[in-house]
Amino acid sequence: MRILDGVYLVGGAGYNLSGGCNVYLIDARGELLLIDIGSEGDVELIEENIRSEDLNPKDVSVLFITHPHTDHAGGAARAKKIFECKLAAHKITAEIIEGGFKKSQNEPQPAQVEIKLHGGESLAFGDLEVQVLDTPGHTREGGDLCYLIEANGKSILFTGDIAFKCERGLMGGHPVTAWIGKRSRKEIETYLNSLRSLLEIAKPDILLPGHGLLALREGWRELDECIRIVAKHLEESRST
Ligand SMILES: [Zn+2]
Repeated sequence: MRILDGVYLVGGAGYNLSGGCNVYLIDARGELLLIDIGSEGDVELIEENIRSEDLNPKDVSVLFITHPHTDHAGGAARAKKIFECKLAAHKITAEIIEGGFKKSQNEPQPAQVEIKLHGGESLAFGDLEVQVLDTPGHTREGGDLCYLIEANGKSILFTGDIAFKCERGLMGGHPVTAWIGKRSRKEIETYLNSLRSLLEIAKPDILLPGHGLLALREGWRELDECIRIVAKHLEESRST
């Protein structure tokens, strides 16, 4: 599904495109970049979805991973085989992927990560730049990254599981409430700091999350909403 010129949604259980997380494809004029991949069983579907956009899956040069959970990164080894691409991830995430996801139940195939990141980098692909933002808070071990690009005069932020669009009325609550209840106060403080610095640095027009709906206008409002909800949660946990 074309989101805007050169940016596509090619995977996501919420859209029946694949079984895992939302998977995004960026066309950097000849070079294709993927953001996340989903689990092992999703990779062939994603390959098919890339073809149906009249693009060649073999042109995928780098697969960027947002965090090491298997519904985002489990298909990394399979993707490398099919697309013959490089992997890019935070160094903590890289360790988990290279170690074969030891703490997960389904233990997908390990994969080598060629591009190890820590946040603050800017990677150029033709005239497109991918800014890497260090945003700890969702993954217990650390290793959460968001990716920011500028395309068609708009800033586009890929948030993984750090920020979501609120699905008002559909899910009976904001998606972050599904997991922040399981985190310690200290972890939530770290997460809140990440959200605040994201809003300051990125202020995205378009927010493309790892699950659920996409915010195609005023994406920064969704960041604002996440901050409000997480701050409220922290306040309430303080008073109990
Ligand atoms: Zn996820």
